[in-house]
Amino acid sequence: MSENAAAKTHSFQTEVKQLLHLMIHSLYSNKEVFLRELISNGSDACDRLRFAALTDEGLMEAGENLRLRVTFDKKEKTITVNDNGVGMSHDEVVQNIGTIARSGTRQFLDALSGDTANDANLIGQFGVGFYSVFLVAEKVELTTRRAGDPASAGVRWSSDGGGEYLIETVELADRGTTITLHLRDEDKEFVEDFRIRGIVSKYSDHISLPIEMHPQGEDTKEEWEAINSGSALWSRPKNEITVEEYERFYTTLSYDSEAPLATLHNRVEGTLEYTSLFFIPKKAPFDLWDREQRHGINLYVRRIFIMDDAKYLMPSFLRFVRGVVDASDLPLNVSREFLQNNKDIDRIRAASVKKVLSELTRLAAKEPEAYAAFWKEFGKVLKEGMVEDHDNRTVLSDLLRFSSTRSKDLEQTQSLAGYFKRMPMKQKAIYYITADSHNAASTSPHLEIFRKNDVEVLLLSDPVDEWLVSSLNEYKDKPLKSVAKGALDLDDFASPEDKKASEQKEKDLSELTERMQSVLEGKVKSVRVSLRLTDSPACLVADEADLGGNLERILAAMGQNAPDAKPIMEINPDHPLIRQLDPEHARLGDWTQVLFDQAALSEGAPLPEPAAYVQRVNDLLTRAALAGD
Ligand code: ADP
Ligand code: MG
Repeated sequence: MSENAAAKTHSFQTEVKQLLHLMIHSLYSNKEVFLRELISNGSDACDRLRFAALTDEGLMEAGENLRLRVTFDKKEKTITVNDNGVGMSHDEVVQNIGTIARSGTRQFLDALSGDTANDANLIGQFGVGFYSVFLVAEKVELTTRRAGDPASAGVRWSSDGGGEYLIETVELADRGTTITLHLRDEDKEFVEDFRIRGIVSKYSDHISLPIEMHPQGEDTKEEWEAINSGSALWSRPKNEITVEEYERFYTTLSYDSEAPLATLHNRVEGTLEYTSLFFIPKKAPFDLWDREQRHGINLYVRRIFIMDDAKYLMPSFLRFVRGVVDASDLPLNVSREFLQNNKDIDRIRAASVKKVLSELTRLAAKEPEAYAAFWKEFGKVLKEGMVEDHDNRTVLSDLLRFSSTRSKDLEQTQSLAGYFKRMPMKQKAIYYITADSHNAASTSPHLEIFRKNDVEVLLLSDPVDEWLVSSLNEYKDKPLKSVAKGALDLDDFASPEDKKASEQKEKDLSELTERMQSVLEGKVKSVRVSLRLTDSPACLVADEADLGGNLERILAAMGQNAPDAKPIMEINPDHPLIRQLDPEHARLGDWTQVLFDQAALSEGAPLPEPAAYVQRVNDLLTRAALAGD
């Protein structure tokens, strides 16, 4: 090929080189996935052509029947996969399998665990499936022409998986893509009729595109025969589908090597007819938190693939659900805009959400351990539903799990229903604290009075929790209340005598709190005597209507302008550090600043002037040391 004047050698990008090196030298087991990847790409290419041709009939050219063909040559040790799908232009080849690393390349390299059996399985998940050809091939040739382009716009690409590939323009009569693998000697076992059929049926049986081979396998003059059963799995009756078939289908949708946690297959009849097949995974995919995450529910119309990122079919807080919706009554040429404002799609989505949530509710009730494992993987995502989905708030609130002061470890296992059941009749609110880590939440001074009185507090430390509590105002008529906001309702804790005593202390210390307040001018709204503290000298409290320190810090970290509301400092009148202070104390200024900074530190806030804090503490310590303490 090098004598062709138009042929050009290009270098793979560094990360792709690393990836190829790995394919060739490290991933030994499960090499057969190369065929799964090629078939999956060919099937995608046919799906994309079918969809594009709905609005541009010319694209189909001659030959309506989309199919994929596999041939091999034992003597030459080659396997060839050909599809008559959408094909690629020169630039698309460079984009997709050439110079530019795909977004998943780095993530794939990072995700490798060294467990080679599993690593080969990850290939498809990260959008780097094509390169798996180098698991078995010492040389790969790809020719392709984009549907609708002239024959002269064909492209030939070839590489031996080293650092470079060759690309040139060629004449190609047929649209679509042909990939020929020259197998390495040690991998020639794959050039075997039964082997290829076995792999195809294992991974690709449910693919609705016919996958054809010659009866004798090798390129004879015989008719082609379809070797996959080719029926869309979801269109078959439920009772005829085995668990293994569902699982295999799930694997090809998700590339998850584990079986799904739950499978939901439903046919809905009536005015709006559709079939849905949903899977709830056991493990979160690597891109669960990726904004660009492209997987969604695949939308089909009467078994014709329409699109695979149909966000309209599942809300963002259920983005981990995988599966298919096949609707009978939608027009074939639906556009994204159409889907966005379509009543039928809205109804399908609402029903799908209900299905998934009721399955989760069932799991939570019947298989609490499985649900706990689910929550660990997806709890943070599900919590978003409290904000996103007002209609399902009640169902969702029963699915929530939290850590609490009653938990033995950091696991989020307490339900609101459980809290509600445990709380004494007279308790007026469900209490929670938010902080940026579980540790900061569970050691907060705000909890002291609650611990002393054995009142349970939910410990919230996921960023989304702040939004969650702002939209979950109450549960079964009990308001949710932050232990770090507003004044405490003493009725939950104290006897009338205690209340009197604390009012008296408030009076006795009024001069001191006024002095301290003027020291902290501009930093606090006020200084007052605390009812919350038993062990700590001071803490910071937000006003009922303010956001609170934790949320302000989250917003600031997100680059948003949080209103800079001043906290209230509360002091513990019974703490020795407070008791030794009086309004005339010579170092009242230093003491007040140090108490304020410590209160901020204990709620996880960074100090604006750490050096000044250290200086003051050291001064006070030096005095104590010199006094012989
Ligand atoms: P993925 O399929 O997850 O996108 P791959 O590495 O398997 O990742 O393929 C990379 C890209 O190359 C595909 O997204 C597609 O654009 C293109 N491609 C691969 N094979 C074909 C094919 N047979 N026909 C058309 N395009 C293809
Ligand atoms: Mg692929």
